[in-house]
Amino acid sequence: METGIIMEIILVSACLLGEGVRYDGVAMEFDHQILKYWRINELVASICPEVAGGLPIPRPSSEIFGGDGSQVLKGLKKVINVNGQDVTQYFLEGAQKTLLLARFHKIKLAILKEGSPSCGSRYIYDGSFSKTKKSGKGVTAALLEQNDIRVFNEREIHEAEKYLKHL
Ligand code: SF4
Repeated sequence: METGIIMEIILVSACLLGEGVRYDGVAMEFDHQILKYWRINELVASICPEVAGGLPIPRPSSEIFGGDGSQVLKGLKKVINVNGQDVTQYFLEGAQKTLLLARFHKIKLAILKEGSPSCGSRYIYDGSFSKTKKSGKGVTAALLEQNDIRVFNEREIHEAEKYLKHL
């Protein structure tokens, strides 16, 4: 692990920090020495965009229907839950609140949970609720990247650390 003085705050998905905020209420802590180092040094800000957007815990799972987060931001696609309800507004609200938090801390880098319709940065699920992955970003990840905040997933934490070192 590379150390040295880090002044930047890093935005991290709340579920990766062990908070039981996922749709099923299960905590999925990402146990990694780099993340531990950042937390010990109070360099982490966390949020769950879906909860921040007003969704409860637990909640029905949701997927972006036939598109990705950038299309949701443009109003071209919707986020639908497994019961067929349109929950797009909650996802948009959560993404905006996450961006506000990031701006408050002048954040340039985020580690977000892969695969989520909010936080996914390389892949999401295709809207069929059949566990079918497709490349694309979740709504929050897309909004952050549109605002010059670099998003990595949890498996890219070493790349994130290198990126941070050169900021
Ligand atoms: S929205 Fe993001 S932070 Fe919240 S549970 Fe899903 S992946 Fe985790």
